Amino acid sequence: KVRVRFAPSPTGPLHIGGVRTALFNYLFAKKNNGEFILRIEDTDQNRYVEGAEQYIIDALNWCNIPFDEGPGKEGKFGPYRQSERKPLYEEYVKILLEKGKAYYAFDSSESLDTHRKEHEEQGKTFIYNWHNRLKLDNSLSLMPEEVTKRIANGDAYVIRFLTAPDEKIALNDIIRGNMTIDSNVLDDKVLYKSDGMPTYHLANIVDDHLMEITHVIRGEEWLPSLALHQQLYEAFGWQAPEFAHLPLIMKPVGKGKLSKRDGEKLGFPVFPLNWNESVGYKEEGYFSETVVNFLALLGWNPGTEQEIFSLQELTNLFSLERVNKSGARFDPDKTKWYNQQYLQQKTDAELAELYLPILQEKGIEAPISKIEKVVSLIKERAVFVADFWELSDYMFVSPNSYDEKASKKQWKEDTSSIMSEVHDVLASVAEFSSEKTEQIVKKWIEDKELSFGKVMPPLRLIIVGEMKGPHLFDILEFIGKEESLQRIKTAIN
Ligand code: GLU
Repeated sequence: KVRVRFAPSPTGPLHIGGVRTALFNYLFAKKNNGEFILRIEDTDQNRYVEGAEQYIIDALNWCNIPFDEGPGKEGKFGPYRQSERKPLYEEYVKILLEKGKAYYAFDSSESLDTHRKEHEEQGKTFIYNWHNRLKLDNSLSLMPEEVTKRIANGDAYVIRFLTAPDEKIALNDIIRGNMTIDSNVLDDKVLYKSDGMPTYHLANIVDDHLMEITHVIRGEEWLPSLALHQQLYEAFGWQAPEFAHLPLIMKPVGKGKLSKRDGEKLGFPVFPLNWNESVGYKEEGYFSETVVNFLALLGWNPGTEQEIFSLQELTNLFSLERVNKSGARFDPDKTKWYNQQYLQQKTDAELAELYLPILQEKGIEAPISKIEKVVSLIKERAVFVADFWELSDYMFVSPNSYDEKASKKQWKEDTSSIMSEVHDVLASVAEFSSEKTEQIVKKWIEDKELSFGKVMPPLRLIIVGEMKGPHLFDILEFIGKEESLQRIKTAIN
């Protein structure tokens, strides 16, 4: 049975890269009738941020990609917070010590810095492995009694992985294929600290094993850890899961990976709920369908021209084989385009419901059927529901000013008298529908041998306040006869 996990560290808001990782895990799990697990990797107490876990859970739920097991949804593999699994890591690091695959090291950070500097001065990189091990302060260079004494003494230590020299470590990644790494370039990474906390590497491997994870799908930034993880599985004698490292998400323009700063420039630093001062996609007015859709295409492609996908379609089509190796460029304009598409897909009733609170805030009372009508007339031009007001304010309130540039252009010497006549023409229309008013005004223009350009643009300016909006006669019908006539009167007096 396929079991995958999203394993964020609760260090702050989720970035789009994190949500993309969660989404790809979810899609892979659902495609294969498997399970999607949320594991909170909170062993680094210095970076722990209160509330971040809830934020992550809310974000996944908002995207409609809920987890099957995780905090609050205990399955048989819990607990799902690493801070609640501490005794396990101690148990497992002891196994590595007993097997001779790990060792105690007492080096202070000052002494490690000194070694690093010395190497640098000679133009070399300092690697904590068999090159240097015996010159350093660890249980491989000390007598066993001394090691025991120092531990009993309460000296700070770490437990490091013992990397074998001269090994060609064979790695496989579903997206990247086969790779080999020379073990001589690898550090003996720290697995465990004397404060009783494991590092990411140990906790991650132990948990993936105990939680019976079959596929590890995560960001490319973890690829350099793969060799160590592979060796850890071998050291324990466990079958490793399969790995898939997702491509980096690149800046919209130029080189390099998307950073928080790029995000901020775009106005969408984080995802998706309020986090202190930051504004996420949700607050920006994006629909969750939009976010899921554009994230799915950041690194994955269906092999066709199709761009709009529901979550269900994505689940049906998804495969790790169709994930690209090369970085995926984040395109903020495209995300807007997606939102516009999804907005058009909503019914007028749904959009009216969303528009209602905005109108209420403006102090406007209107029956929902009227709001639906407005939405149907203007939604085509909207990217966000928040654009509705700007696109339709004149449907609810008469303009209190007229666009200056447009006035200069449209308002001629004879405009006032023409508009006064239009007023009377409209006043004579009994059935004030869009079709009827259009028919009558057009006929009148023809009979008077006036041009449309002399009548329609200034009339729009009077009714709307600027040169925007849908079909003018639709607006007249919507605001009604009395209001239409009133707006003309106000303008010409
Ligand atoms: N805790 C790691 C993170 O924050 C998990 C990496 C992994 O998936 O192995 O991304």
